[in-house]
Amino acid sequence: MSEKLDKAAQKAITPRAKDYSEWYQDIVEQAEMAEHSPVRGCMVIKPYGYAIWELMQKDLDARFKAKDVQNAYFPLFIPESFLKREAKHVEGFAPEVAVVTHAGGEKLDEPLVVRPTSETIMYDVFSRWIQSYRDLPLLINQWANIVRWEMRTRLFLRTTEFLWQEGHTVHATEDEADDFAKQMLEVYRSFAEDIMAMPVIVGTKSDSERFAGAVRTYCIEAMMGDGKALQAGTSHMLGQNFAKAFGVKFLDADSQEKFGWQTSWGVSTRLIGGLIMAHSDDKGLVLPPKLAPHQVVIIPIGATPEEVEASQAKAQEIADQLRAEGIRVKIDKRDMRPGPKFFEWEKKGVPVRVEIGPKDIVKGSVVAVRRDTSEKQTLTEEGLIDVIKDLLDQIQSSLYAKALAFRQERTITVKDYEDFKNKLEGNFVLAHWCGSAECEAKVKEETKATIRCIPFEMPNEGSGKCLYCGKDADTAVIFAKSY
Ligand SMILES: [Zn+2]
Repeated sequence: MSEKLDKAAQKAITPRAKDYSEWYQDIVEQAEMAEHSPVRGCMVIKPYGYAIWELMQKDLDARFKAKDVQNAYFPLFIPESFLKREAKHVEGFAPEVAVVTHAGGEKLDEPLVVRPTSETIMYDVFSRWIQSYRDLPLLINQWANIVRWEMRTRLFLRTTEFLWQEGHTVHATEDEADDFAKQMLEVYRSFAEDIMAMPVIVGTKSDSERFAGAVRTYCIEAMMGDGKALQAGTSHMLGQNFAKAFGVKFLDADSQEKFGWQTSWGVSTRLIGGLIMAHSDDKGLVLPPKLAPHQVVIIPIGATPEEVEASQAKAQEIADQLRAEGIRVKIDKRDMRPGPKFFEWEKKGVPVRVEIGPKDIVKGSVVAVRRDTSEKQTLTEEGLIDVIKDLLDQIQSSLYAKALAFRQERTITVKDYEDFKNKLEGNFVLAHWCGSAECEAKVKEETKATIRCIPFEMPNEGSGKCLYCGKDADTAVIFAKSY
């Protein structure tokens, strides 16, 4: 049995430089995060991948609740007519909705859409929940699954069904709604940077890239290991578009009936794809400690049953102390040689590996190996717990610093459009844009690059010339190819 396990464990990962997309696929598969399902485009999230999602959920959920957001749950099925009430919304989602026409052995009177997002069903309900200004703000979030019929799918990054959270709020004034949309964007920025160790650029989407039915879409954009962009989270200021379509009204303090101002915001299991691509290497997944299901794995080593027993007892002792400090620890007691175990946990991105053998026990020490740098060190048992805690903090911050340096190196400016076409691949290009949808569309058509965002803060602020048409432009944007 152990020989078979050894073989499976040693299946190689395609080098990143050879084929980025194969490399990604190999990591998802070999770190046992997810696999394809019998239904094309859908994924099975395996326990290890799901454990990462649970950690993300737990952290984000606490952040939402700190903003007084409450969780609720709305139905998976939405009457088809609901989607049609907001014109831009239906236009945006129609090509990718799945529709149920038959159920219970009969044709349905009205087809039901499997939710591609829940604005319509929620706001129909909100129109009955809200009567007075005293009912505002209404701050709701739901953790749910979503279906968008995708033609080209990739595990975590783009799947037909995925998991996400969607927040939906109603406010009495435009300013309050806009401010809340920005506050939630800040929640996402902080989560991405402080928890995922993934630096992001914060800004606004151009009109053509914004959410269907929104007035404004705020976003965080991250750079992946191949220099492409990943939209990691969005927060939308919906204005009164949906409120008018669904009758979300309230009687204000001045006795006037008014429409509510709304926001919606979401992040999904796509973040797991981003996490993989932001940090991983040719040995496999690299996880920031804050999102690692096992922050430390302990491998007890011994040549005889007695030695194994002694190593396991010591491993248990250390694990108990680490757990008492809130550290997530796994002791790998499987009857296998240590080599394949090292290999497996390396592929799964466990931040710190601790090895304990008979010689270590005699010396009162252990061997610790960092996943991110492969640095190996001998640590004395005395003060071990604090040293490991420090090590986890160091790994968390060094992953962020490394990803930030990588993005800074690959954020460039160009002389002109020709220069842009030559240097676009693998970079974020900072350029001026005149604001015309036509210039934006031409760039996309000719180079596949899109405006990822109009950053709130730009290093080269001031006016310049539009990258495409050369006219005066005072808006600076990030162009890149994206996932
Ligand atoms: Zn232009």
